[in-house]
Amino acid sequence: MLSQLREIVEHVSKEDNVHVALEILVRQTCAAMHTECCTIYLANEQQQRLELMATQGLTFQGDTIHINFNEGLVGLVKRTAEPINIAQAAKHSAFKFFPQLGEDTYNAFLGTPIIHRKQVLGVLVIQQKQSRQFSETEESFLVTLAAQVAVLIAHAKSQGLSFFDDNQLTVIKGIAASSGVAIGPMWWDNTQPELSDVFPASALDINREQELLSLAIDHALADFKRMRKKLDLELNKDALAIFDLFTHLLNDPMLRKDLKMQIAKGDRADWALRQVVESYANRFAKMSDIYLRERAQDVRELGQRLLFFLHNSEQPIHEFSDPIILVVRELTASILASVPKDKLLAVVSLEGAANSHAAILSRAMGIPAVMGVSINPELLSGKLSIVDGYSGEIFPDPTTELLTEYRELVTEESELSHMVEQTLDLNAATKDGQRIQVLLNAGLSADTSISLNKGVDGVGLYRTEISFLLQQQFPSEEEQVQQYRAVLQAYPTKRVVMRTLDIGGDKALPYLPIEEDNPFLGWRGIRFTLDHPDIFLIQLRAMLRASQGLDNLSILLPMVSSVQELDGAITLINQAYDEVAQLQHDIVPPQIGVMIEVPSMLYLLPFMAEKVDFVSVGTNDLTQYLLAVDRNNAQVADIYETLHPSVLAAMKHIFQTCQSYQLPVCICGELAGDPIGALLLVGLGYDTLSMNTSNVAKVKYLLRQTTMEELQHLASQALLQPYGDAIYNQMRDYFEEKGLAGFIRAGKS
Ligand code: PEP
Ligand code: MG
Repeated sequence: MLSQLREIVEHVSKEDNVHVALEILVRQTCAAMHTECCTIYLANEQQQRLELMATQGLTFQGDTIHINFNEGLVGLVKRTAEPINIAQAAKHSAFKFFPQLGEDTYNAFLGTPIIHRKQVLGVLVIQQKQSRQFSETEESFLVTLAAQVAVLIAHAKSQGLSFFDDNQLTVIKGIAASSGVAIGPMWWDNTQPELSDVFPASALDINREQELLSLAIDHALADFKRMRKKLDLELNKDALAIFDLFTHLLNDPMLRKDLKMQIAKGDRADWALRQVVESYANRFAKMSDIYLRERAQDVRELGQRLLFFLHNSEQPIHEFSDPIILVVRELTASILASVPKDKLLAVVSLEGAANSHAAILSRAMGIPAVMGVSINPELLSGKLSIVDGYSGEIFPDPTTELLTEYRELVTEESELSHMVEQTLDLNAATKDGQRIQVLLNAGLSADTSISLNKGVDGVGLYRTEISFLLQQQFPSEEEQVQQYRAVLQAYPTKRVVMRTLDIGGDKALPYLPIEEDNPFLGWRGIRFTLDHPDIFLIQLRAMLRASQGLDNLSILLPMVSSVQELDGAITLINQAYDEVAQLQHDIVPPQIGVMIEVPSMLYLLPFMAEKVDFVSVGTNDLTQYLLAVDRNNAQVADIYETLHPSVLAAMKHIFQTCQSYQLPVCICGELAGDPIGALLLVGLGYDTLSMNTSNVAKVKYLLRQTTMEELQHLASQALLQPYGDAIYNQMRDYFEEKGLAGFIRAGKS
C-alpha cells in the first residue's frame, strides 16, 4: 500500500497542469483501491460550495458541478472535517441525490476531507457498487492520500493558482520579511547568467582560464568595496557585514586553492566555479543551524557574482525610468545596492527567509519585502502588482477596488510615519505626564544602527552575538574592545546595557558547531559562557575596558535559569573587573542585570533581587518557554501568541515582584516595541521599554495620545480575558476609538 501511495503522489506532483494532475489522481486512486469511482471536490470558500474538479466513475453532464457546503454527504465531510464511511450512501440522512452526477449505481461511500493547516481544502471520495463498508486499511489509505494531496493543493494555491473559473482574487503568499506596502510594476531581470545554467566545459587554455578567474576575483572584490561604500551612508555596520563576509570568503586561501585546482584539472573557469561553489554551499545547506544554512545562499550569491565578472568586466547598469518592484531569485545585498533607492518600491524574492542578511538589509532600508515566494517570475514581470510586506501577500493584476484600497493604505502609511517622526525628539511620556524610558535594542540586526538613532533614552539591549557569528574564530579581546567602545561612546551620557554572548538555540557559531536535539532547551546563553570561562572572561574584560572613562556600562546576563548560574556569572564579572582595574584606571564597576526569559525566573526573583541591579524581560523567549512553542517554527506560529493571557499574567507577576523588591525592570523583547504590547505593558506599570529603532517613534507617539488611567484600565481588563484573541480585540477597539487604527495594521486580510 505504501509504495502505491508514494507512486500516486509522485505522479501527481510531477504534472505541471493541476487539472491534469487531479485527473491522474482519481484514475490512479481507483486502480490502487480497486474501486469503480473516485472524485475530488475542492472548496470554493468565496462561493461557499464544493466544486467537482476531477472524477472517474461519475457520468455527469454539463461542465460544472457545485455542491453547497450544507448539502449532501460531501458537504457533511467538509463541514465536520471527518471521514464518512458507509455501505449504503442513499440511506444516510444527509444524502442528497444529484441526478446530473449519475451516481445512483453506487452504494458504498467513503469521503475524506483534504485538510491543510486546519483548513478543509476539499473532499476526496471513493464509491463502489457493492454495498459494503470500506475496511479500516482502505480508510487510512484514503486519509493518508488526502493529507498528501492537501500539501500539493496548498502549494499550487501559494503559487497564485486559482482552481475556479470565477473572478477569484489571486493571492501569492510568501514570508513577510520587511513591512510596508507598495504598488507598482514587477521587474524581473532574466539577462543575468545563472550559475545553475553553467554546464561541463573543458579549458582550451588552462593558464588563460586561471587568469580570467583572477581577474573576476579582483573585479568582484572591487565591486564589493564600491557597493559597501555606496550603502555606507544609509546603513549601519551590521547590515554591511555581508560585503565583509563576501570579501572574507573571496580572500579565503582555501576557496581560491580549490578553484585553481579545479581549473588545473582541465575545467573551464565557469564550470570550475559552479562545482566548487556548489560543494561549499551544500556543506552549509546540510548544517542543522538556521543561521549557517542561510550562509549557503551567501556562498551561492558570491558564486553568482563571480560568474558575472567571468562573463562581463563591467557592473550591469539598468536605467529605471520609473520605480519598480524588483523580483529576484535570491535577494542579495549587492542586488539591493544595484537599484537606486528612489526607484525601488519593494522586493519579492523566490528564495530566502526572514532571517537572511538580505531581509535584514531591506528592513534597514525601509523597503517592503516578501520572500520565499513560489512563482514563475517570467509570468509576473511587467505586471502591475501590490506587495504587502505586513502579511507577505502579493496581488498581481489587482482589481480596481483592491488597488484603491491599497493606494489609500500607502498614503496613510506615509502620512503616519511622517507624523510620528515629527515628534521623535520629544520625551516619551503619556498625555498626563508619566515619563516612560524608551530604549533601543541594538546589535543583532540592521535596524539597530547606533548612529541613526535619535530620540531614545539609551540602549536597553545590545546583542553581542553578531561579531561572533560572522567570523571564522572567536573575536579577540582587542577587537571586542573596539566594537563595544564605539557603542558606549555613541551614548556618552546615557546607559548602555550590553548583553553577554547568547549563542546556541538558533545561533550557533560556525567554528563551534553544537549538535543537539533540542537546541532551544540546550547549551545556550549563560550555560555556554559559564562552561567556557575563558571566552566569557575575554568578553567581560573587553566590555569593562571599553567603558573606561565613560561610566555608562551595564552588563546583562541571558538565559539564566537558576541562582547558581547567576552566582557563577557574578564571580566571573568580579574577577574580570579586578583584572582590568589593576591595569586601567577610571573604570567603574558595571551595573549587573539578569534577563527573565526562562519561566523559573518568575519564582527566583526574590532570591535574585539583592544580587543584581536590574532585570530585563525577554518576552521573545519567555513566550516560547511559557507556551512550549518554538519561536522559529512556522508550523506552530499561530500558537506563539504574544498576547497570550499567561504571558500577560507573567508580566504582571514580574512587575509586582520587582516593585516589592524595588528592583528596576525593563522589557527588551519584541512586545515592548509592539504598539499594543507597549501600551499594555505601561498599563501594567512598566516604565522602561527597549525596542528596535523602527518602533521608537511610533511608540513614543502612541504614549502621548494616552493617559495612565486609560492604560491601567485596559491592562486590568486584559488580565481578565481567557483568550489572546479577546485581548487583541479589546486593544483593537481601543485603537479604533482613539483614531489610531493605522498603528496596528496587520496587512489586508
Ligand atoms: C528575548 O528573548 O526576548 C530577547 C530579547 O532576546 P533574544 O530575542 O535575543 O533571544
Ligand atoms: Mg532571548
